[in-house]
Amino acid sequence: MAKIAFVGLGNMGLPMAQNLVKAGHQVIGVDLSPVACEALHAAGGQVATSAAQAADGAELLITMLPAGKHVRSVLLGDDGALAKLAPDALAIDSSTIDVDTARALHEAASLRHVSFIDAPVSGGTVGAQNATLTFMVGGSDDAVARATPFLQQMGKAVIHAGGPGNGQAAKLCNNMMLGIQMLSVAEGFALADRLGLERQKLFDIASKSSGACWSLTVNCPVPGPVPTSPANRGYEGGFFTELMLKDMRLAQDAGASAGAATPLAAAATQLYALAAQAGLAKKDFSSLFEFLTAKN
Ligand code: NAD
Repeated sequence: MAKIAFVGLGNMGLPMAQNLVKAGHQVIGVDLSPVACEALHAAGGQVATSAAQAADGAELLITMLPAGKHVRSVLLGDDGALAKLAPDALAIDSSTIDVDTARALHEAASLRHVSFIDAPVSGGTVGAQNATLTFMVGGSDDAVARATPFLQQMGKAVIHAGGPGNGQAAKLCNNMMLGIQMLSVAEGFALADRLGLERQKLFDIASKSSGACWSLTVNCPVPGPVPTSPANRGYEGGFFTELMLKDMRLAQDAGASAGAATPLAAAATQLYALAAQAGLAKKDFSSLFEFLTAKN
């Protein structure tokens, strides 16, 4: 049993923290939302009033926060959580954040003799609840080896992507590919509609042809062909357009700072931004199809 501080008990963090409680750890959670804190308490965890208090003497610190600025503000500084951890502690950031911040956090942790990994996830809220997340991890072999038993209590796969920041790099590249892919599938169905080709026919053919991909065969953006896809429930739940937009923007920033050409992702990013503004921010990102085909 380890003493674990868990900062950020949102849609992802709360079920992840609950899985660590179930695994028998002493989990001390903190969140700005009293409702989230109460939910952890009800599940058998403890609640702190600040990240620094939660981290005080903990062997492991996990952050699951919205963006890089939140992780920085929680971890850094003399009153930050890194400074309060037990000697030789381990810190894991599972938020999706920019690569530059992730690398800066590795350096800051190392100055405080804390092992650090960036370990963003895929699998969504269902994966967080069922402990079936995939962790993509950046950091030293030693830190990854220490973190793996804990990650396995919250997920089904742990993939070491390389050195500091490479977990975030993998996450951003993957989600950028996904964002473009969904746009291509949505445009395919929009064109099929105009050409008088039945959606089901396009699905039957493309899913067995070279157009096949996750955005078509699992998260199909039109209702009908894949009954479990969010399109069949008014795009409720799933992976919100605003979260896809956040990841696309992070990938654009990373591309600009690294000098990578990502022109398709640039166009897709603008479309997700317009779709979010048009009221689809809290709908599954496959609602891009609705945005493309909306009648004015
Ligand atoms: P969320 O907004 O539901 O949760 C974030 C939580 O952090 C909130 O409860 C908020 O109150 C808390 N918080 C913010 N600042 C804080 C602070 N200073 N101290 C303590 N708590 C603070 O977000 P989420 O859906 O849980 O996502 C968390 C991260 O995981 C994000 O980076 C997101 O991109 C990533 N992610 C989300 C999903 C998903 O499907 N939701 C999937 C993969 C990755």
